Amino acid sequence: MNLILLGPPGAGKGTQAKILEQAHGFKQLSTGDMLRAAISAGSETGVKAKAIMDRGDLVSDDVILGIVAERMDKPDVSQGVVFDGFPRTPAQAESLDKMLKARGGKLDGVIEMKVDDEALVKRITGRFTCAKCGKGYHDDFAKPKKVGICDVCGSTEFTRRPDDNEKTVRDRLQVYNKQTAPLVEYYRGQGNLHVIDGMADIGQVTAAIETVLAQLKA
Ligand code: AMP
Repeated sequence: MNLILLGPPGAGKGTQAKILEQAHGFKQLSTGDMLRAAISAGSETGVKAKAIMDRGDLVSDDVILGIVAERMDKPDVSQGVVFDGFPRTPAQAESLDKMLKARGGKLDGVIEMKVDDEALVKRITGRFTCAKCGKGYHDDFAKPKKVGICDVCGSTEFTRRPDDNEKTVRDRLQVYNKQTAPLVEYYRGQGNLHVIDGMADIGQVTAAIETVLAQLKA
């Protein structure tokens, strides 16, 4: 099954994509994570993307479609993919339809996670991650059990994304509302759109997604 989690930065797409990966064997395909990996590796794509990402703009469709197509050709996506942070423009959405068709697949559903912009700013600016195992935390909502120590691996090193500061978050939300929100109507027109409340607790959001998956399977 191929699914898109659609929603602004901080809506919880990454968290839910990881839960879906564990529960159903789908692969999370996060273009943001792929770009951050390219930056860490110092590749040409990473070098070009870094400045764009740091100011909250979108990386060009060509670059994004190139890395997604390459990822879709790996054998481990055969159980299905949860797209997280992709597509973000109408051109990317149309290319994804073609890419799936060319590989004998299709899009099964798009889940829009509805959230409130002000709550998002609070959610994003407070988040941080264990530098060793990648476990996500939040200054207010999900602190480690012992201050400064990762619950999962015991590491004492944590990182924050450079684009998770308030100014860039507000810019990213504007970019979302202008360039990505039109995809809601695109997918509604295809009959693929399912809207859920992304402001609920993580477990409640997972349950809402599972309800959509059950409908899609029926
Ligand atoms: P994310 O981790 O999804 O919040 O993405 C972080 C940043 O990576 C975004 O603010 C963009 O600069 C860039 N990015 C990620 N995915 C895309 C995409 N599908 N199209 C264009 N830019 C992207």
